[in-house]
Amino acid sequence: MESKDIVPSYCPPGLAGEERDSFWMSHAIDLAAQAEALGEVPVGALVVKGDALISTGYNQSITCHDPSAHAEIVALRKAGEKLNNYRLPECELYVTLEPCAMCATAMVHARLKRVIFGALDPKTGSAGSLLNLVDYSAFNHQLHIKSGVLATECSTQLSQFFKKRREQHRLLKKFPHRLHLDGKKSD
Ligand SMILES: [Zn+2]
Repeated sequence: MESKDIVPSYCPPGLAGEERDSFWMSHAIDLAAQAEALGEVPVGALVVKGDALISTGYNQSITCHDPSAHAEIVALRKAGEKLNNYRLPECELYVTLEPCAMCATAMVHARLKRVIFGALDPKTGSAGSLLNLVDYSAFNHQLHIKSGVLATECSTQLSQFFKKRREQHRLLKKFPHRLHLDGKKSD
C-alpha cells in the first residue's frame, strides 16, 4: 500500500494543539508499521505545513542499502522535492522516535520550524536525550521541540518489534537449519 493512501492529506478542521499533534503522530505510527512489514525497525515520519501533509517516510535503510534512509531523511527529501526548496521553514516534522544526530542536523539544515516525536531514545536520541542538536544555541537555527506525543504507543511498537526479533534470533540459534529469520520453516 502506498503511504499516501494511509495518511490523510489534511488535518481535520478544528483540531489544534495536543489533538492535532496526536492526529499526525497516529499516522506516523501507521507509517512505522510499513517499515516493520519490510523487516525494518518501525519508525515513521511525516512533514506537514499548516494543516496540509507534505510528505511521508519510514525507515528503509536495509531495503535500500542506505545508511541515511531513516524515516526523517526520507520524508525531508520528499518534502524538498515537493516544495522545490531545500529549506522548509514553515514545516513541522512528526516522527515516532526521537531523531538521531544525522536526522536532527538535517532538520536544522532544512530550517524546519518544529519537531514532534513520540518515544525517547536514550542511546542515540539527539533532541534532548543524549544530545540536543535541534535546539543548540551554537547553531544558526533552532527548532521548537515537542516530545512524548503518543509516547506509549510509539515505544510499545518499537519494543514489541525488538522482542519479536530477539525471539527469532533465539530460534535461529537453536534450530539453524529449520528456521529463517522471518520465523517461517524452511522446506
Ligand atoms: Zn535518524
